[in-house]
Amino acid sequence: MNEQELHKQIILSHYNDPQNKVDNLPEGYLIQKGVNPSCGDELELYVKLDGNTIEDVKYNGSGCSICCASASILTQEVKNKSISEVISNTYQFEQMLKGEEFTEDVFEDAIAFKGIANFPARFKCAFLPWKTLSDLLTNKE
Ligand code: ZN
Repeated sequence: MNEQELHKQIILSHYNDPQNKVDNLPEGYLIQKGVNPSCGDELELYVKLDGNTIEDVKYNGSGCSICCASASILTQEVKNKSISEVISNTYQFEQMLKGEEFTEDVFEDAIAFKGIANFPARFKCAFLPWKTLSDLLTNKE
């Protein structure tokens, strides 16, 4: 399997079997909504903080396979990381999606979106979950 096929498999498996997707806001979680009108993606992120650490992230929403898979992957990638680390990784993720230089080793499954750099129209789909989380983290004070 080449890298491109592997990445496609990762995205499809998260789309078909989403991680940390829930129907309602869990108790004790902060909420942030995000929309991408150009595609129709809608998302609610539920975030539980422990001081400056992201203890847990869950989500609810609907949209295209890219956006849904990105949300599922995000919930796994940011867990137990500090707010500053997640904001830094969000920047790295944005760089990757734009085809700019980025630090590969900060990502696990999120690396599957590397190919989005060749499809600029899908940038907002892949970036929506990360942007929504970063909106919450930067506005929380
Ligand atoms: Zn989309």
